[in-house]
Amino acid sequence: MHTLRTLDDALRLRAELRAGAARAVVVGAGFIGAEVASSCATLGLDVTVVEAAPLPLVPQLGEEMARVCAGLHARGGATLLCGTGVAGLRGGGRVTGVELTDGRVLPADVVVVGVGVRPVTGWLEGSGLALDDGVRCDEGCVTALPNVVAVGDVARLDRPGTARTVRAEHWTSGMLQGDVAARNLLAGSTVARFDALPYFWSDQYGARIQYAGWREPGDTVRILEGTRPTAAASSPSTNGTGFPPPPSAWTGPGPSCGCAASWPALRSRPGGDRRVRLTGPLPAA
Ligand SMILES: Cc1cc2nc3c(=O)[nH]c(=O)nc-3n(C[C@H](O)[C@H](O)[C@H](O)COP(=O)(O)OP(=O)(O)OC[C@H]3O[C@@H](n4cnc5c(N)ncnc54)[C@H](O)[C@@H]3O)c2cc1C
Repeated sequence: MHTLRTLDDALRLRAELRAGAARAVVVGAGFIGAEVASSCATLGLDVTVVEAAPLPLVPQLGEEMARVCAGLHARGGATLLCGTGVAGLRGGGRVTGVELTDGRVLPADVVVVGVGVRPVTGWLEGSGLALDDGVRCDEGCVTALPNVVAVGDVARLDRPGTARTVRAEHWTSGMLQGDVAARNLLAGSTVARFDALPYFWSDQYGARIQYAGWREPGDTVRILEGTRPTAAASSPSTNGTGFPPPPSAWTGPGPSCGCAASWPALRSRPGGDRRVRLTGPLPAA
């Protein structure tokens, strides 16, 4: 049974996949689960992805995009089982199967668990820092202790122009926040704020998803290029056929603020743009 957080985790997983494993079960169809499943399928393994939610990635991407992602699994040859959780693992020294909450048992040579990311902040308790699923910061990465800043996965920042907070687990957030945090640390107060839009990418089954901005409930998906897949063809629990090419780009309402490729230039603004780009080469239908 594997998790994937470090280089050593990746090396261990690769060694096992190369040692003749035939059946992989991936728990969780988030970005890590989907990318692992994609790699396993590319290596020729029989892959099943188990996702407790009715569709993968709905909180992050919305339902339309989630259907596209479900379709990528199907087109890549992986079986996506949604709406069922994992009740336990079967086996002794080695895992041999995954027991689902609906009673099914999936035989497995390799199991990868891609769920449960959370910031490790226990060691900061009692330090005077405000902790709330991360280290609470103002818009400039400055914590409750003015001489302490936090950046990257652990930092939960006030979101500019809203009463909300945000903690983004993206490389670009960690990279760009360092600059803002250092300026505020040197100034001794918040003179700069972090206002870059979140940006991430994910490579799955030969397609690349790029996402910049915030998805808000009620956003309307507008197809800019390509075709919207039909709901029936993107049913998540089959290896459905006839799935049309996923759209290559779509966006929510609001003023355009550039494409994902120019992410450093993206800046938050009230009612700003939400943009997703999905590019091929896409798996053949
Ligand atoms: C498998 C995987 C795939 C990913 N793919 C993408 C992707 O495609 N695109 C993307 O944008 N993001 C991706 N991410 C997320 C991205 O890796 C993180 O957002 C990014 O690494 C966060 O950087 P960070 O510096 O905040 O934290 P980390 O990179 O986790 O670095 C934190 C470091 O601090 C060390 N540390 C922790 N606690 C302590 C302590 N108490 N004392 C001293 N050291 C400590 C840790 O050992 C670690 O080395 C992925 C993550 C994973 C796990």
